[in-house]
Amino acid sequence: MNEKVIVANKGLIRADFNFWVGRYLDKFYDNLENKKIVGNTCPKCGDVFVPPRKICGKCNEVIPLEENWVDLPETGILINYTITPYKVNDRAFRKVKKPQTIGMIQIDGSNTALIYRLLNLEPDNIKLGMKLKVEWEENTKGDPSDIRGFMKI
Ligand SMILES: [Zn+2]
Repeated sequence: MNEKVIVANKGLIRADFNFWVGRYLDKFYDNLENKKIVGNTCPKCGDVFVPPRKICGKCNEVIPLEENWVDLPETGILINYTITPYKVNDRAFRKVKKPQTIGMIQIDGSNTALIYRLLNLEPDNIKLGMKLKVEWEENTKGDPSDIRGFMKI
């Protein structure tokens, strides 16, 4: 078979859409709106997930929606980070003027990590394992942007 590209066109299309995150993340975001972090615990191995999951990645156990929720603190430790001139959440205007630092933060009492900006931290002052604390948006909306980022304690 002889295949040939007839038209090649590069461009950017923006489309607004609604996306339902499911009942587990729904509960997570509802709590973010109240400036609280919740996770859920695998009933088999005891791992704690933030954001919460339906199925444990370690032992494939289904975590019931009605049970195994845990309230977690707004503190954690930095387990990795990167410095990038690109925004992670906007595909149209990706380059930023000042490079931002994106960290993987393990909330105290959990076994997973959240990915957010590190605020007011110069690269020289960043150390793996350092203690961090959530910086909340003033007006929360019940979505990931309720957490503005993480700051050094
Ligand atoms: Zn498990």
